Amino acid sequence: DMQDFPTSRSNFPPRQFQRSVHIAEIVNDKLTAARTVVIRFLESDATVERMTVKVKEALGCVEEITLTDSQGNEIVDSEGTRSSSYWKQNSRKIYAIFEDDFVEFQNGRRQKTRRRSEETGILQEVLGKIDQLKQATETLQNATEAINLLSDLAKVKSTTARQAEQLHLVMDAFCCHVCKSLMSKPMFSTCCQSLLGCQMCVEHWLLNTNYCLKCRAEDFEFKVHEVKGLSAVLAFLKEVHTE
Ligand SMILES: [Zn+2]
Ligand SMILES: [Zn+2]
Repeated sequence: DMQDFPTSRSNFPPRQFQRSVHIAEIVNDKLTAARTVVIRFLESDATVERMTVKVKEALGCVEEITLTDSQGNEIVDSEGTRSSSYWKQNSRKIYAIFEDDFVEFQNGRRQKTRRRSEETGILQEVLGKIDQLKQATETLQNATEAINLLSDLAKVKSTTARQAEQLHLVMDAFCCHVCKSLMSKPMFSTCCQSLLGCQMCVEHWLLNTNYCLKCRAEDFEFKVHEVKGLSAVLAFLKEVHTE
């Protein structure tokens, strides 16, 4: 009888984890650990948003910070980063960069990338974006094909007619179903497992209708979600496309 066991399983305190986060300084366009803070967290804290708050609390700062990997790539919200198994591995180094420094760092890297891309062809630049895109779209069915195409494109050194055509296919995958331009703040729908369009376009659609704009499923408003972490990739695609 459960009454005889007051310390039943549900009464145990939730499991706590800890990890160190390096506070980064940018020296000669490279990340350097200025100091380290130790963050204690629960399973429910294991998201990019919550971990960012935790680091800010540990620093006692109000300035915005960005969490990155050791290469300075922003850690984005995804299936993979929504679990303690991602955050508790201390072999995976995590850096926190103050917002101003992060902008400066990205600008520096962008200039460097641009210089390099002039030598090896614009499509090489895509390579650096693929991991970011993969992480953000792991669970999105119709984005997988686009990512594979991006991978192929990144491997080539010059543009042939066929590759240019593939780049157009990638652009199509991220084309808004409403306004027909490259999505801004892309929205994903669970009814048809599809990237649908810009947040603004989808919200406008929802003003008059409550069915999916692609598959016509009912209760659309409960099925559509913003896809975080794709903005940087889309900004990049836009830039490549206009060049
Ligand atoms: Zn749109
Ligand atoms: Zn749908």
